[in-house]
This record gives sequence, C-alpha cells and structure tokens, in this order.
Amino acid sequence: NNKIRVGIAGYGNLGRGVESAISQNEDMTLVGVFTRREPVDVQLLSDQVPVHKLDEIESFKDDIDVLILCGGSKNDLPEQGPALAKHFTTVDSYDTHAKIPEYFASVDEVAQAAGTTAIISVGWDPGLFSINRMMGEAILPEGETYTFWGKGLSQGHSDAVRRVDGVKAGVQYTLPAEDAMNRVRNGELPELSTKEKHTRECYVVLEEGASEEQVRETIVTMPDYFADYNTTVNFITEEELRRDHAKMPHGGFVIRSGKTGESTDQVIEFSLKLDSNPEFTSSVLVAYARAAHKLQQKGDTGAKTVYDIAPGLLSPKSPAEIRKELL
Ligand code: NDP
Repeated sequence: NNKIRVGIAGYGNLGRGVESAISQNEDMTLVGVFTRREPVDVQLLSDQVPVHKLDEIESFKDDIDVLILCGGSKNDLPEQGPALAKHFTTVDSYDTHAKIPEYFASVDEVAQAAGTTAIISVGWDPGLFSINRMMGEAILPEGETYTFWGKGLSQGHSDAVRRVDGVKAGVQYTLPAEDAMNRVRNGELPELSTKEKHTRECYVVLEEGASEEQVRETIVTMPDYFADYNTTVNFITEEELRRDHAKMPHGGFVIRSGKTGESTDQVIEFSLKLDSNPEFTSSVLVAYARAAHKLQQKGDTGAKTVYDIAPGLLSPKSPAEIRKELL
C-alpha cells in the first residue's frame, strides 16, 4: 500500500494526540513511537504500535517517510530538531516565538545538507494564527492586527496559583476581555496592551482552615502574574476540580481591522475554540506531515514554516478533487 509512514519522536500530550490523529487519516500509518524513556514505561493508546528507544532511530531511516517531533520547545526541540532533520523529513511545533529565526536557521542548515524537508513551528500559534496575521496584513495594509488568547488554561499561571499559601490545588484560565474585543470588532482600532486584552479566572481548592479572603487577596495582588489584570477567584471542591477542569482547553481570535477606499471599515476574524489544545495541535501537525512528505518527494528540501506551504498540500485529495469540491 502507499500510505505515508509516520513516526513519532517523544510521547507526551502531543505524541498521544498525534497517535490519535493518525488513526483518523486513512492515507497514513503509524510505524512507531520513539522515546528517551524505557520503551516499556511508555503506554500508548494502541497496543499495535511498537515503542523504540530514540537513540536507535537511525536504523529506521528507510521505514519512515515523516517523523513528527513532539518534544517540548524549551529543552527538547532545539537539540532534537536539527539532530533528527539530518536523517528524516520532520514536522514540529516549536513555539518559542522570539527564537524561531534562530531555530529555523539551525534546522535549515542540516536539512539542506541532508536533502530532507523540515516544517517547523506548526500548530495554531505559531501556525494557523500566524497565517491569519499575515493574510490580514497583506490584504488590508491600512489597519491593525489583534490577537486575543483564550479561553485557555495557562500552565505558568496555574503553577503560580498553586504556590499560594492555603491553596491545595487550582487552575487558571486566560480569557479575552469582551469590551476590548467589541471595540476591535467595531473598527475602533484601539491601542491595547496584552493586559487590557485579557482577563484571568482562577478556580481554587482551599487547604483545611485557609481563609478565602486571604487567598483571594494574595492571588489578585500577585505582581507580574495577576496584579495588572482583572482577576476573579472562584473557590471549588476537589471533586469539582477533577470533574470540570481536567481538560486543556485553549483557543483565541486573530482580528484584522482595516480600511479600504476613502474610509470603509473591513474586519477579518479567525477564531478557534478548542476543548483540547494538544489534540488540536496534533491534528495540525499531522496535516502538515502530509505536506512535508509531498515536498520531500518533489525535491523541495530545507526548513520551511507554515508560510511556505501551499494549502492544497495539506489535503489527502488531489488538486483536481479539491478544485471540483471545495473551490
Ligand atoms: P509534554 O511535556 O507532554 O511532552 C514533551 C516531552 O516530554 C515528550 O516528548 C516526552 O519525551 C517527555 N515526556 C512526556 N511525558 C513524560 C513523562 N510522563 N515522564 C517523562 N517524560 C515525559 O509536552 P506537550 O506534548 O504538551 O507539548 C510539547 C510542545 O508543544 C510544547 O513545549 C509546546 O511548545 C508545543 N506546543 C505548540 C503549540 C502550537 O500551537 N504551536 C500548541 C501546543 C503546544 P520522551 O518520550 O522522549 O520522554
């Protein structure tokens, strides 16, 4: 059969999401998962897929068309991205925005030399949001682009809440500020800081005997994390935390508000509402893995970002089918 043979490097939230997404794409098959841990310690969703040690991956060179890198952006990808692009066509979700140019260069050098294709920083932000920011600018040169995030679970802020005395457990969500969004949608072109664009919502389980008032006060006045935001704190039971706050939702809005002609308002809006950030990001990675494979086959090698990928390459359908069905 002619299925695209995919491998997964690193098995955390994204690794699990990619495994699940591949099973929804009939033109792909999952060859194996590669991990730095002992393979027996890594439990996949399926018992049909083998787990191997990452340092033995080179011997699978001829068995894998695309390797999806699911390591963390902070410590794993800066090392794994270039190391694996040396032997495989890859896709990753590197998301340290400020360091993307540097990361691109390090992967590009290796991929150019090896004749592999490496699509970096794929996902929703960076990823689908980046495409929409660029399109808005290109189409409406006179205007402003606004990105609002949420409703989303923030790991860093959840950790900060959990460190407060008297807090047993808790989570923090970032939400777009409604009034700021409405001003943008109305074409007011307001100047807004990140702080003005977002509000914060905490759900906290208290330790026995801790004071609600004291914990609330400590959270909402915490410098850097909460003091400058409109923050609400809700107290819940452990049972409610488990039941209602176990998922990793995220999403947001990219809005381009611009003017054409004399002063005609034009607003472009793209939004995502995700019940699971990792499962969605993984689905984006899998679609771009298909594109990476097509480019590699055409001899279009080196590092790429989402800006370099023609949308039709993401589809399992032929160009003729897409023109007929979707244009
Ligand atoms: P995880 O922390 O779940 O996994 C990262 C790595 O840690 C894995 O590859 C795995 O490597 C190792 N690992 C996972 N679970 C365990 C465990 N129980 N014990 C020991 N090691 C473990 O990260 P995520 O999958 O949630 O996210 C990966 C990256 O994706 C993030 O750093 C983020 O930057 C990026 N991302 C990008 C998005 C975008 O829109 N562009 C959106 C969301 C995330 P190994 O198997 O080798 O041990």
